[in-house]
Amino acid sequence: MTSVAEAGLAACPECDELHIRRVLHPGERARCARCGTTLYRRPRRRPDQMLAIVTAALIAFVLANTFPILVLRAQGIVNEATLLGSVAALWSAGQEPVAAMVFVTAWLFPVFDLLAMFLLLLAIQTGSRPALFAPLLRTLQAMRPWGMIEVLMLGVLVSLIKLSKMADVLPGVALYAFIALTVLLAVILSYDLRALWQPDQQRTAEA
Ligand SMILES: [Zn+2]
Repeated sequence: MTSVAEAGLAACPECDELHIRRVLHPGERARCARCGTTLYRRPRRRPDQMLAIVTAALIAFVLANTFPILVLRAQGIVNEATLLGSVAALWSAGQEPVAAMVFVTAWLFPVFDLLAMFLLLLAIQTGSRPALFAPLLRTLQAMRPWGMIEVLMLGVLVSLIKLSKMADVLPGVALYAFIALTVLLAVILSYDLRALWQPDQQRTAEA
């Protein structure tokens, strides 16, 4: 069975009008001739540029998790804590909902998103299409609307700072790495994942 996309066509998601696919310039979008709905767009950044950004974000993530980000004060004892250490401290201080939110938004979501993006972009870069490609991309696409991770991460920072009764944010490597990670994630999350389904069109356009 040949799909619409494989036949070089694009169907309008609103009115089903069929269009012949064209190779777009970076940043351009194709609209339906009948109703004006966006059919597809060509991201401003190429997959190899995105791979560099994702790699930088992964490095920032490792740094943000390796170095202490908080100074915890409990019963006169002062302790430096990493991000995950802070989550554990929040949990044991009876702040379970905040701990869970920080863990999911500042750790779990970014880890999954960055690793998935890295694998997908690497596969595109090496011209391979592993069996994992389609399910991974679909999962990522399903997760993204949840996301606005960069907004949530700012919320995490604020909640960390608000917990100043038991902790101070440490102005060190981890904090700066975390801020860099937030900025890089904003760029990564604004990338239109639909472009990854047909990277070949982009590559031929640039050759
Ligand atoms: Zn239409």
